[in-house]
Amino acid sequence: MTRDQVFEFFRRLADANPAPETELEYSNPYQLLVAVVLSAQATDASVNIACRPLFERITTPQHMMELGEDSLRDAIKTIGLFNTKAKNVIALSEALIERFGSEIPRTREELQSLPGVGRKTANVVLNTAFGEETFAVDTHVFRVCNRTGLTPGQDVDQVEAKHEKIVPQPFRRDAHHWLILHGRYTCKARLPECWRCPVIDLCRYNPKTPPPEERAKPSAARSANRASSKARTAKGRTASKPKANRSRSRPSRLP
Ligand code: SF4
Repeated sequence: MTRDQVFEFFRRLADANPAPETELEYSNPYQLLVAVVLSAQATDASVNIACRPLFERITTPQHMMELGEDSLRDAIKTIGLFNTKAKNVIALSEALIERFGSEIPRTREELQSLPGVGRKTANVVLNTAFGEETFAVDTHVFRVCNRTGLTPGQDVDQVEAKHEKIVPQPFRRDAHHWLILHGRYTCKARLPECWRCPVIDLCRYNPKTPPPEERAKPSAARSANRASSKARTAKGRTASKPKANRSRSRPSRLP
């Protein structure tokens, strides 16, 4: 995408949701850190269900150490990979007490030095708890960036690096949330809901998903529609202007 198109892409997402927020429930940076660690390969909804009763009692690393690994494992057993996650949460709580005076560190390097905390988790905490302009690339963000052509990349590091370069200032703080929410609720993995997408004309993904009523038509009717559409296209081609004229007629700016 061009810089103008990137600006327009985020302007529309911002119009639709001016103040996007994480869907994880938390009341302080420590709880946010724990929730993000628990959310790896799990849904935010499943983490919230497990953490709601837990976070009523546990608000600090000390509380978590007093709870202990066995009780924590039991409290989060509905979340995938709960054994490893319980170990990591206890270990990171211990590290926070010993090395950071029970405070959540504010640099990526320090955060990543904690057990179970990778770059993505550190970026989410820096952005959501401390307002830093960091871009956490999760599965939704990675998919949306590649599908749309916004910031395509072969791995999450490439996508994050392109974001750093191309996302314009008014949108840098919230870009991560807009893309996650767009991927979670509109540009879904199995079937992107293109027919109701606010950035459909900016997105390079093809073919776009038609609306449900169109997809519900019997296949014979769909084939007939496709045939008639092809015929119209072929007729249009015969009657259209020469190539040189067509390329001149393309708009050079966004509508
Ligand atoms: S048009 Fe479709 S593929 Fe493109 S961003 Fe929207 S929902 Fe995703």
